[in-house]
Amino acid sequence: MDLKKLAAALIPDADLLEPDSYEQIYPERNTAKGAYVTRLAPSPTGFIHLGNLYSALADERAAHTTGGIFYLRIEDTDEKRKVEGAVESVIRSLKYFGIKFDEGAEIDSPLNLYGPYYQRQRAKIYRAFAKRLIEQGRAYPCFCTAEELDKIREEQNAEKLTPGYYGKFAKCRNLSEEEIYSALRAGKPFVIRLKSCGDIKNKITFRDAIKGEITVTENDQDVVILKSDGIPTYHFAHVIDDHFMRTNLVIRGEEWLSSLPVHLELFKVLGFKPPVYAHTCSLMKTENGAKRKLSKRKDPELSLDYYRKAGYFPKAVVIYLMTLLNSGFEEWRLKNPAADISEFKFKVEKMGKSGALFDLDKLNDISRNEISALSPEECFGFLKEWADEFGDAKDRQHFTDKAYIVKILNLLMGTGGKKRRKDIERAEQGVRLMDYFFDDTFSPEYSFRCGKEEANAVLQGFYDVYDPADDNSVWFEKLKAVAASAGFAAENSEYKAHPEAYKGSVSDAAEVLRIAVTGSPNSPDLCTIMGILGKERSLARLKAAIK
Ligand code: GLU
Repeated sequence: MDLKKLAAALIPDADLLEPDSYEQIYPERNTAKGAYVTRLAPSPTGFIHLGNLYSALADERAAHTTGGIFYLRIEDTDEKRKVEGAVESVIRSLKYFGIKFDEGAEIDSPLNLYGPYYQRQRAKIYRAFAKRLIEQGRAYPCFCTAEELDKIREEQNAEKLTPGYYGKFAKCRNLSEEEIYSALRAGKPFVIRLKSCGDIKNKITFRDAIKGEITVTENDQDVVILKSDGIPTYHFAHVIDDHFMRTNLVIRGEEWLSSLPVHLELFKVLGFKPPVYAHTCSLMKTENGAKRKLSKRKDPELSLDYYRKAGYFPKAVVIYLMTLLNSGFEEWRLKNPAADISEFKFKVEKMGKSGALFDLDKLNDISRNEISALSPEECFGFLKEWADEFGDAKDRQHFTDKAYIVKILNLLMGTGGKKRRKDIERAEQGVRLMDYFFDDTFSPEYSFRCGKEEANAVLQGFYDVYDPADDNSVWFEKLKAVAASAGFAAENSEYKAHPEAYKGSVSDAAEVLRIAVTGSPNSPDLCTIMGILGKERSLARLKAAIK
């Protein structure tokens, strides 16, 4: 068969370049020896998840700890899964977590010499190489319909054989010239498949940067390289792009490990050197004592948007993921709490080999710690940003009074005290924690543990003596006196010794005040809270609670 003629009939594009010319168009990068060129290659499906951030961090660290380059490529070959605005959302999400690309899609950089970074815009390159493979007899057209492929699958199922297009099932592999041209004349749609030379009896031993030595079976599947719309599959685009974008380290999820034999064969047939591969383990969670993969359907915490909406402190998420990425990180950070994360010597080889257990409680702890280390002004900025984007009109209004919020934060963060408080876990929760400081979001339920009369006596008693000029100890002495005259023990020890003689202890009396002023039996120092609220508002709340 005249393969040149066949290639021209299948891929008639007049504007294709000579495949080899791409070697000059995208020359080797002149990065230092040992420098990693990495990429994040998300599909714009509108769903960016924790696994993407986990990989992005590993990519970014691997590149930047070796003097390499980290770029963003958009894998938009699957038109059906494409979602409007998804690219912007990927970039916005990653930016929130401080991930910076050196080059790539939507990145304004003089380094953008390896683009376009959207796969759809690279169709010419893939088609040039597919054409060459056809000319070399290493790719062929397949006219099988969906029904025919279903039939093959059924046959394989019935015979318990490996599914796929290979061996005797590869019906179009040996079509005659006449069959091909008559199908073309009839306008039948076709895909281009690789003509695999592999044999599943052969094993390939290969070194994964994370998993170590792995033995895989050679590929014998005639995988699709160009779909019927002329757009490449992931396999073909991956191999061509990572070669010409000069990626030398591909970090990707372990779900791709099963396709590795296909990729290795494609690298070979195209005459390219494969990159170093690092297949990352999946993120897992424990549920009812059993480990399982985080799932898009069941676990909202898989989505990166979840963390933005819940107002996680971005650095906390990064620190937490770093502890998952390299087991030595936690120890390093304990020893170097003030050091920048970039000073940690990240190693791809030290990444976890199997299921990283995702622990939301641990992330929450880290988030509390990180937020508690901020200055109240910094914390204000962080919370305000959240309120402006995700809060309601009341939240946004509250955050126009910086001086008032900073006063609240001084209390919630324990600034000035010996030890910082860790009340704020994330922005959403922090903003809600402040609700009672504002009348329009203060909604108390007066459920006192003591009787109504005693509660009223405490409230009225304190109403009569409260003076915002009192310091903490005077404030407390006044409370004790009010408690005693309402029938409560002024000392807790006294109450313990003779509970029958009192309506309750001074703590119970304090709780009445606390509920009246904050709406809850738990709060930081009440005297300070009343000071922040101011005399008028504090007294109004005491009055409102008297029933
Ligand atoms: N577009 C692929 C994905 O989103 C990228 C896999 C890779 O990093 O090679 O899963």
